[in-house]
Amino acid sequence: MAGVTLKDICKVYDGGVYAVNHIDLEIKDREFMVLVGPSGCGKSTTLRMIAGLEEISSGTITIGSKVVNNVPPKDRDIAMVFQNYALYPHKTVYENMAFGLRLRKFPKADIDKRVRSAAEILGIENFLDRKPKALSGGQRQRVAVGRAIVRKPEVFLFDEPLSNLDAKMRVQMRTEISKLHTRLETTMIYVTHDQIEAMTMGDRICVMKDGVIQQVDTPLNIYDRPANTFVAGFIGTPPMNIFSGIIRYIDGKLCFNNSNMTIQLPEIWKPVAEKYIEKPILFGIRPEDIGSERAENDPNAQSIQARIEVIEPMGAETYLYLDARTDNKASCIARVNAHKQVKVGETLSLPLLLDNAHLFDQTTTMLLT
Ligand code: ADP
Repeated sequence: MAGVTLKDICKVYDGGVYAVNHIDLEIKDREFMVLVGPSGCGKSTTLRMIAGLEEISSGTITIGSKVVNNVPPKDRDIAMVFQNYALYPHKTVYENMAFGLRLRKFPKADIDKRVRSAAEILGIENFLDRKPKALSGGQRQRVAVGRAIVRKPEVFLFDEPLSNLDAKMRVQMRTEISKLHTRLETTMIYVTHDQIEAMTMGDRICVMKDGVIQQVDTPLNIYDRPANTFVAGFIGTPPMNIFSGIIRYIDGKLCFNNSNMTIQLPEIWKPVAEKYIEKPILFGIRPEDIGSERAENDPNAQSIQARIEVIEPMGAETYLYLDARTDNKASCIARVNAHKQVKVGETLSLPLLLDNAHLFDQTTTMLLT
């Protein structure tokens, strides 16, 4: 078993582009760490550097207690599962899974035991004689995972392994990989651009943007306390609503204020907010904290006026796309009870629950704490 440590890692491609820019990250032994961010943020490059498939430009990578900067991929005791499965089309499922072990000269009986055990874990024991083309996408992905499992590596690396599957299969494989992690108790590093995969699978999530780590924490801590407006917008669907305005005293009360909104700030925000008097600020509030039942039941909730532009019933709840008429932007989404009676064009008074709302610095975009 092994943790993985990245220390001051950079990857500079030809032309001086920093794909990965001075990142530090410690992945604990047996942890499930998800690297998440938009396309081009450097997450695959980071994973490939851990695998040894990409040279690092500077910094140190340690797996277990061993610095692996100059260790070839085959000697790193890692196994990687790729988005495109990378199976040998002319070999059977059994042979695909056994191939790496044969190369490493494992005894035949040991190979057979490992392949059958992995096949059983993944529910593909009836397909061992088939070729990949006779399998569904989900089954192929299981073979690719099986090929990684048989090696019993110290660390599993997953590079967007579910991107080629349909939505239903993605959800199923997501839970299967989580179960696998519980069962194998091995360190797993998982790259995805999908924030739902990140939230649901990771023990911790590392959010990246432009080659730089924005925040590393547990899914709920990131959701509840995003380090900056990028993380606030990236993690959570629909994203957090962000309003720009100013902090000022109105009738002796400390408020967030813009052309359409005056929100009296909770007393505990005062020490932070007072440093921003008459300065521009960003106010962030999640869709579930606008007009939800919890907000409606809060006797102290303050309200905003907003006109409904689009109604999206999701079944369990309804998303309202609202024109909150701030800065002329139609810029607000609320998650309300599915049975709330609403009509497009109607202007509503929507209570806000401020428990989980935040202020961000408008220049640095950082969370004010
Ligand atoms: P992600 O996996 O987050 O989508 P990547 O790690 O693949 O991002 O890429 C990070 C950045 O590095 C991107 O801007 C990409 O264009 C650039 N990049 C990736 N591979 C190469 C390469 N071989 N040569 C030059 N630039 C590259």
